[in-house]
This record gives sequence, structure tokens and C-alpha cells, in this order.
Amino acid sequence: MWLNFILMSENNHTPNRYTITAALPYTNGPIHIGHLAGVYVPADIYARYLRLTGKEVAFVCGSDEHGVAISMKAKKEDVTPKEIIDKYHTIIKKSFQDFGITFDNYSRTSADVHHETASEFFKKLYEQSDFIEETTAQLYDEEAKQFLADRFVIGTCPKCGHEEAYGDQCENCGSSLNATDLINPKSTITGSTPTTKETKHWFLPLDRYEGFLREWILEGHKNDWKPNVYGQCKSWIDGGLEPRAVTRDLDWGIPVPVEGGEGKVLYVWFDAPIGYISSTKEWAEREGKDWEPYWKDENTKLVHFIGKDNIVFHCIIFPAILKSHGGYILPENVPANEFLNLEGNKLSTSKNWAVWLHEYLEEFPDMQDVLRYTLTANAPETKDNDFTWKDFQARNNNELVAILGNFINRVVVLTNKYYEGVVPAPSNFTELDRETLDTLKKYPEIISTSLERYRFREAAQEFMNLARLGNKYLADEEPWKVIKQDEERVKTIMYVALQIAAGLAVLSEPFLPFTSSKLKEILAVGSSAEETSWNDVSTKETLLTAEHKINQSQLLFRKIEDSEIQKQLDKLEAAKKANENENKVVTPQKDTITFDDFTKLDMRVGTIIEAEKMPKTKKLLVLKVDTGIDTRTIVSGIAESFKAEDIIGKKVTVLVNLAPRPLRGVESQGMILMTENKEGKLVFVNPDEDGVGNGEGIN
Ligand SMILES: [Zn+2]
Repeated sequence: MWLNFILMSENNHTPNRYTITAALPYTNGPIHIGHLAGVYVPADIYARYLRLTGKEVAFVCGSDEHGVAISMKAKKEDVTPKEIIDKYHTIIKKSFQDFGITFDNYSRTSADVHHETASEFFKKLYEQSDFIEETTAQLYDEEAKQFLADRFVIGTCPKCGHEEAYGDQCENCGSSLNATDLINPKSTITGSTPTTKETKHWFLPLDRYEGFLREWILEGHKNDWKPNVYGQCKSWIDGGLEPRAVTRDLDWGIPVPVEGGEGKVLYVWFDAPIGYISSTKEWAEREGKDWEPYWKDENTKLVHFIGKDNIVFHCIIFPAILKSHGGYILPENVPANEFLNLEGNKLSTSKNWAVWLHEYLEEFPDMQDVLRYTLTANAPETKDNDFTWKDFQARNNNELVAILGNFINRVVVLTNKYYEGVVPAPSNFTELDRETLDTLKKYPEIISTSLERYRFREAAQEFMNLARLGNKYLADEEPWKVIKQDEERVKTIMYVALQIAAGLAVLSEPFLPFTSSKLKEILAVGSSAEETSWNDVSTKETLLTAEHKINQSQLLFRKIEDSEIQKQLDKLEAAKKANENENKVVTPQKDTITFDDFTKLDMRVGTIIEAEKMPKTKKLLVLKVDTGIDTRTIVSGIAESFKAEDIIGKKVTVLVNLAPRPLRGVESQGMILMTENKEGKLVFVNPDEDGVGNGEGIN
């Protein structure tokens, strides 16, 4: 037992250097809460936590500016890809900064350093004969005169049957695909069914890496990788890995840097993960550091934060590339999250079903921490999860305001009131005081344990439990009552409460960084990591010594009103409506007619004077209509929308010179003009009533 313990601790030397990567966002749109919850918030919590514990950290990210997603967006907006990437790179970079994501470097894959690094990787693998060079038939759009790969083609996934799988990947089951695997492929450029055309590409023979991947993932990371990540990897490896093309016939991307590569670019998922390395190089250059230990030293721990749709690229393809190149470390962990939904529906950039970060920052100024907290407390760590505005409001009002904010406010206000802001000297500690202070000392480790296992929800809840502890301590001890009988006792109570407040100031930093700095300001404690580190909360005898002077209270959190939540819900409802209207199919305009054609139509106002159901039919009513020139019989297919007795006396528009025609043995002598309302119900032509939409045909 003892021997075992000693051996374990010898092998288990904690690394001191970390390279943390967060998935590179595509620059085809701004950042939304799904991206934040899945990747950037947990990655930032982790990076901030490690820095507080004294680790060397390179936390890198950057814009992914290649790939078909960019070309498509440029085509759609009729601008160049360069204009698209410049626009969104700026928006994304600024919104991350304003939200407090502490990347050490935020680069972009259009940077020279990245083009050089990615080209060097390709050339090295090419020279080592690690690629297969092959001419194969690839999907081709004759109309657009373009090969179809990746997002330029959608079709049915051969693995799960999802009907909108892309040419390189199915986002439903996460499978990595070749475009030619798709069933019923369709070009997303022209909508046409592609033909095939021969072209030469370089393939990474993933099948050759099966042994390595089995040993490294299936045997090596069975116990420390999240079950969702491990399970996906296992099913791909067990299902048989196939060679994957790493080049494309596109005009946007990094040119293939070898002979025969003219007119071709690197596949975006070949170059994008290398972007983490380029970003680290850029950072090291700026900071006067050496980038290599961050990627090549076996004692460095590399962790990739991604969403579940990127697992195959980070666990199979990128490691195969790194392994092939040689000299690089492999990820220690890839804590991929599941997806976040919004109010019960899948987040969608194209349908504008999202909460956009840059809009949130404008609408809820200085409330970054509320969103961070809600997204962490409800993170999609083990299954898809739902963001609702009601939950956002409740997390704020019931936890941040009522527990954390309330506790801090009481401590600070009372300290200022009783002692003019000077921390009082304690006298005799009661059993409860000692217990409370001991419990406080345990929190750094409790929270660390959750964070080291990438359980961010649990960690945030543990943090809030410390605020609960403080709140309960004050509520039980009631210093505002005791002060009337025992002033000495109150000094001890306030001293204990102040220690908890100081602990919260330190431990809140990864989760609520803006609140943490306000709190440090209020308590007048150092804001740099050297002055108050994570472990000080456990090891220091006191965090706030007697005689230390604190500042006045400031508002940490404010209540969120129902009206603010309603405004957000209305905004989503409007997005839904706009989307429905956009997707509505309106019959195209018919051929132009002359005025003479029009005057041939004889339309009159009439009144329905009799109506009855045509026997044995579902749809037909037999009407007698007073047209002003005569009373005639008209058979109309409106029985599913109207009851006969309800329309007697109704004024209608009648086309009176339509050639008579027999319907079920009754001669119909004209036509009543009808249209459809938004529920698909027939209504008499009167565009002002019944919600008839523009473009509805009259017939
Ligand atoms: Zn699928």
C-alpha cells in the first residue's frame, strides 16, 4: 500500500508548463453563446486557474480564415474572402477581449507565420513520403465549373442518414467523410447534382496510424478522457480508418507548396490545427520567449478545448500529422463539450437563432460575468444542454445577487459601519468559527479537483457553495443583533466573515474575473497573482489581517428585471418570424399580360344568397350568388374553410365571364375569388382582413 503510494507520486509529477488551445473560430460570422459555452469559457477558466497556481501558460487561439465556409460567405455577400475575414476577425477579436477571454495570443490563419508553418508541415510529410498521391474522380459542379468538397456539397450521411451532411463531415454523428461517400450529393453553389471529374490529390493514409492511435488513445487515455470523446474515437478506430485527402481544388487557402500542387490549396483541417503552433510562435516572438518547449518538451501538457463536432480533427487527424512530422508532443486531453441549444432549438447562425456575444455586450454592459456564470453553471459537458433567458435571470437574481452579492455587501457595509473599514482583531474563536475557517481552507483543493477533471459546472457550484457558507455563517451569527449586547464577539464574527470574503475574491477569478477584480478593489487586496495566489487561501494563516483597511462597498451584481428578459424573448421571436417569411415559398409571377387581356376579365361584386354542401364531397359548396346582373349557381371548393350557413349574406368578388363548367353534375357559372391566410385557410379576397400576406395568389 505504502510502496504503491510512493511509486504513484513519483510518476505523477505535475507539469509546470501548459499549452492550452481553444478551437479557431471560422471568420464567417460572429461568436455566439454556443461557442462560448462549448469552448471559450471553459478554456479561459482553466487558463486563469493555472496562472493563479503559478503555472507557465500559453493560451492560444486565432481566426480560422480558410476553408469553404469563408468562400461561401463571400459569394453570398458578393465580396472577396479577404473582406469577409477582415470584417469578422475584427468583430470576433474585439468581442473576446471585451468578454475577458485571456488569450495570450489571438492570431489568424492568413498571417505569414501560419502560411510558413503549415507549408513546412506539408513539405516535411511530403518529403518523408507520408502522403499517398492519387488521381481520383471527385464531385464536380458543371454549372459552377468547380470541384465540390467540404461545405460546397451536402448529402445524406452514409453512417447515420442525416440529410445535411457536408462533404468532409457529418455534424450530426461527428463522422469524418469524403465527399464521394455522400448519398444524393447536391452542390450548395448551384443546387445541381454533381458529376465527377478526375483530379490529383494528396491523401493522409490514416489507416497506417491505427496501431499508434489504438495504443495512444484506446489504451493510454481510457480513464482520463471524457467518455463522449473516448467513445467517438473508439468507434472511428474500430470502424476502420481510411486515407483522407489533405488538398483541395479551391482558390482560397494556403497553396500546396510542392510540385504539381498548382491551383490547389491545403484542406482547411490540415492547416487549421497547425494554427495553434503558429499562434504560439507569434506570441513567443512578441514576448521574447522560446516557443519550442510549449510544443516539443515532453513535460508540457497540451490541452485542446473544442466542441464535439471537432473531435475527429483533434484526436485522429491532427495527432497523426504531429506524429508523422515528429518532434511534437501530443495532446494530454481533449475535453470536448456537447452542444448548447437556445430556448429548446438548435443554435443556428444562418437562421439567426442565437445570442450574439457582441450584441449581448452592448445590451448588458458590464455584465460579462453573469453570462460566464450562466454558461458555466449550465455547461453542456456530458450532454446537449439548453440556454434559456429565464435560467439566465434566475442564476443572476437567485445566486449571484442573492448569495454572493448579498454576502459581500453585508460584510463590507458592516465593517465600514462598525469599524470604519478596518479589519477588527478577533478574540476567542468558537467551535463554529474554527470549523468555518477550516472549511474555507479546503475550498482551493475542492475546486481544483473539479477543474483538473474538466468539470467546470461542478467547480462553479463548489465556488458558489463557499459564498453560501459565508451567507449562512452571517445569518446564523447575526452580528447586527449581537452588536447590541456583545461588541467583542462581533469583532470575531466580522473577522471570520472577512476571511471568507477574501477567499471569494481569489477563488472567483477564473469564473467571475470582473467581479474578482472589483472584490479585490473593495477589500484592498493585491490584484496580481503573486500577491494573492490560489493556494494562499489554504496555506496563509489569515488573508486579511487585523488593522488592514478595506474600501467602501460597490455594486457587484444588479437584479435583472422581467422586462429585460421579455425583450430578449421578443427578439428571438422576431428572428423566428423573419426566418419563416424568408423560407416561405411564393409562387413566381406569371407571364405578363396586356391591358386588353385584363379587360377581358369581367369581375363583379356579388352576394351569396344560398349555400349548401355538395353531397358526397369534402370540399365543394354549391352557392347561389346575386351578381347584380343575375342570380347564378357557382360551385366553389371552399367547404373545408367555411360552413355553408356562415357565408350566406357575404359580399364576394365574382369572375362572371368564366366559361361554365360542370362539377359533379352541377354547372358552375363563374368563380369566386379566394386567397389563403397565413394558417393556410381559404378566405374571401379582402386583403385587409384575416392576415392575408403579400404575394398570396388570388384564384
Ligand atoms: Zn452522420
